[in-house]
Amino acid sequence: MHSTFKLPEEPFRSTDPLLGFDLDPAHRAIIARAAALAAGRFAPRAAEFDRTAEFPADDFVDLHEAGLLGAAIPKGWGGLGFQPHSSDPFALWMMTKELAKADLSLARCWEGHGNAMTLIDGVGTDAQKQRWFGGVLGAGEVWSCWSGEPQTRVPGQAARFGTTVERVDGGYVVNGTKVFTTGGGGVNHAILLVSTAGPGAARHGTGNADELLMLVCDLPNPRVQFDARWWDPVGMRATASHLAHFDHLYIPDDNQLGPGGAFFAGKWQTRFTPQYAASFLGAAEAAYDYALTVLSAPDRRADPYVQHHAGHMAIAIEAAHLWLYRVARLWTGGEDEAAQLAAARVRYAVEHLAEDVVGHCMRACGARSLIRPSPVERIYRDLGFYFRHDSDDQVLATIGRSVLGEETDVSFFRSARA
Ligand SMILES: Cc1cc2nc3c(=O)[nH]c(=O)nc-3n(C[C@H](O)[C@H](O)[C@H](O)COP(=O)(O)OP(=O)(O)OC[C@H]3O[C@@H](n4cnc5c(N)ncnc54)[C@H](O)[C@@H]3O)c2cc1C
Repeated sequence: MHSTFKLPEEPFRSTDPLLGFDLDPAHRAIIARAAALAAGRFAPRAAEFDRTAEFPADDFVDLHEAGLLGAAIPKGWGGLGFQPHSSDPFALWMMTKELAKADLSLARCWEGHGNAMTLIDGVGTDAQKQRWFGGVLGAGEVWSCWSGEPQTRVPGQAARFGTTVERVDGGYVVNGTKVFTTGGGGVNHAILLVSTAGPGAARHGTGNADELLMLVCDLPNPRVQFDARWWDPVGMRATASHLAHFDHLYIPDDNQLGPGGAFFAGKWQTRFTPQYAASFLGAAEAAYDYALTVLSAPDRRADPYVQHHAGHMAIAIEAAHLWLYRVARLWTGGEDEAAQLAAARVRYAVEHLAEDVVGHCMRACGARSLIRPSPVERIYRDLGFYFRHDSDDQVLATIGRSVLGEETDVSFFRSARA
């Protein structure tokens, strides 16, 4: 006699995504603390920050009060020791993932802040570390990194974006414009990536690598004006990535971070690129959690198509974790060259895994998953826009070039740097 299989009353819960990964227990506890804060405080605020396109300042106050703002500062300087270049980058990436699960815009701002801490630790002087790490840990100061000076014009764009830098007595003078200044008007300091060769900065510049400077701009500053009207995007609205005008901004030598070219010489962007993947994964995991909640109703979870969608999502989420873990272990295992090349791979792979997860979530959950207050509506817009931060055509071409033995720019996904 057949016994009928009965679905359990309790809905299915996904297993802990970090199960089986070798993470320091202290790191695991800090990630759990960040996850609780993100779920309890940041997720409920995300919709309003998105609506008003407002920098999530309250979230950063909470991160400071919870002792998490200095996560990427080394322990020797009073931080939590999550710096990706001399600790376990997987720990930082998993913390970023938790913030992204609550709010992808917050995660982008957090990435910029963490990247700034890494650059200060990597190339700053002891006096600079003392001053700037002290400001973060003591006063809750928030940082960002601004390069964006895309050189191609788009319809409706009145003038070309870009900065010029002039050497003067005791420092530099910056003039011109930047776009995508994440945290513009909300952060206390920004590392300006600017080039003495002219407009284009790091990402869009064509000058010699050693002409790129990192100059720290203290904010607010009457010589830096933000134009918020420029920022009315489909997603990532709360990054407040405004258009900035620099009008004879003087930056003293004390605020220069490392010598010219230090950014490229240290291949720092390869340390930062996997962070995008961690953020994409966080957004995908939030969509997955939403889907599991919706689909755990007995009539839905018995449906074979729903089961396929759930299976796809589970595998994609797991694959993304495995990718990030592999890249982290290349770094911690001292395989620097392989890790630098793997940055592009994890960026590309996780973009498509995350896109897949959100697609399966929407197909399985239906149209109401895209109506507010469903978080999937925002995740879909945010991810679709955030993916454009790098062109995945160029990322894939970079990977192909390295496979074929062609010269490869591991920093910014284009053919060889001049
Ligand atoms: C949400 C978000 C947050 C961001 N935050 C920051 C930040 O904090 N700091 C920062 O510095 N930047 C930031 N950026 C900006 C980012 O670094 C890029 O500068 C920006 O996305 C470039 O804009 P674009 O894609 O419109 O332009 P483009 O770079 O012009 O790219 C448009 C398309 O044209 C192609 N293309 C461009 N130039 C060429 C060429 N010469 N030959 C062939 N193809 C080409 C590209 O591959 C792409 O497909 C952010 C971007 C986003 C979306």
